[in-house]
Amino acid sequence: MSKDKQEFLISRNNNNYEVIIGLEVHAQVTSNSKLFSSSSTKFGAEPNTQVSLVDAAFPGMLPVINEFCIKQAIKTGIGLKAKINNKSVFDRKNYFYADLPQGYQISQYKYPIVGEGKIILDMPYGQKEIGIERLHLEQDAGKSIHDIDPDSTMVDLNRSGVALMEIVSKPDLSSPDEVNVYIKKLRSIMRYLGTCDGNMQEGSLRADVNVSVKKKGEEKLGTRCEIKNVNSIKFMQMAIIYEANRQVDLLEDDKIVDQETRLFDTKKNETRSMRSKEDAHDYRYFPDPDLLPLEVSNDLIDTIKKEIPELPDEKKKRFIEKFNLTPYEATILVSDIETSKFFEEVIKDSDIKLATNWITGELFALLNEKNLEISKSPISSKNLSKLINLIKNGTISGKIAKTVFELMIESDKDADAIVNEKGLKQESDPKQLEKLIDNIIKNNQDKVNEYKSGKDKLFGFFVGQVMKVSEGKANPKLVNEILKDKLSK
Ligand code: MN
Repeated sequence: MSKDKQEFLISRNNNNYEVIIGLEVHAQVTSNSKLFSSSSTKFGAEPNTQVSLVDAAFPGMLPVINEFCIKQAIKTGIGLKAKINNKSVFDRKNYFYADLPQGYQISQYKYPIVGEGKIILDMPYGQKEIGIERLHLEQDAGKSIHDIDPDSTMVDLNRSGVALMEIVSKPDLSSPDEVNVYIKKLRSIMRYLGTCDGNMQEGSLRADVNVSVKKKGEEKLGTRCEIKNVNSIKFMQMAIIYEANRQVDLLEDDKIVDQETRLFDTKKNETRSMRSKEDAHDYRYFPDPDLLPLEVSNDLIDTIKKEIPELPDEKKKRFIEKFNLTPYEATILVSDIETSKFFEEVIKDSDIKLATNWITGELFALLNEKNLEISKSPISSKNLSKLINLIKNGTISGKIAKTVFELMIESDKDADAIVNEKGLKQESDPKQLEKLIDNIIKNNQDKVNEYKSGKDKLFGFFVGQVMKVSEGKANPKLVNEILKDKLSK
């Protein structure tokens, strides 16, 4: 493993294999209504309560394009630094399935709405650019439910017709770690843009994972397998590792890898063959005669460009330049739009360095422990900023601040109120501290003698005593100064 490039290799019998990964992410467009009908897209509704005649594919019903979804796709394309195509075409992708009443999915085939773009990944070994091949709009299918009735399969059409953006990467990803960072970055960009909530538990973000392997250094790509519909990053990583190893084993046994579509079994942690991979022509794509080609004017693109907020990469750059953060700190703070907002609110009137440390340290630990999003933080940005100011102006020590932080979690009181109520103010009056220290010296004469005869380590003992007697409130800097002075006499 070289220093600047972390390689993910699979080794067998002195052969090293590289893994080549491409992702087709299906991201649900944030929109109140579906791509071609006005039905609601709200998650969690009773089955089949959000189904129009269009979604149920009643004969003669015509799709009507949802302009908002088009704008959302353009927005996402701009966020991916991609080319927006002035003309795109909706096609019918024909296949049969019980949860697809139309008998075809309306998708975009030859002419997608968004062309090539890119995403920059911050890896421990540096930045890596991942190419985006395209982004196209398509309808989601309904949902087949197999676990309600042992003898039959139920169909819920609430999801039928919901707008999806299929975002296809180039095969530029080469490890499970890169896949992790890629998905998070893509999700982060879409959340900044408000075009997809990225909620993987609710199925708003799922990926088909294409995996192939080749001997290190070889030019020719191996045969790829596609693992369908993986809905968590952890499962994507597990599926990739399993699948890459399976393919390497086949090649090492002089067997061939069949191009096929596979399924990841999360219980057994293995991929299984679903069907041999269909080619595009199996779907008999043709332009949907119910929908005209979609024309997007440059004016519309320019208007949307003006609505694009500051995105993670630009925000990171600004945080580093303006606030003097390290790239690492900036990366963490911009990774989620809510976190970056929280940070900027805290530093409106408090110390940047302290705010950075408290947010990435104590606050993140708390949120992690309670499994909370920062928007649900039990400590508001305003209160954290107050706490930081109390540390900064010497009212409380950093150690006491941790106690106050704990108390802030339990009550909704602010930092000032807690410090006053509990009498936690830092003792910074030299006279008071001297009194306290004199007492400790008097009561520990044996230790004083040992210290004076060269046992330097005992200094810590005295500091500890002062802190104990003052209940942690003594100003540590002053305690050190006074103790040094007194013990040298
Ligand atoms: Mn698709």
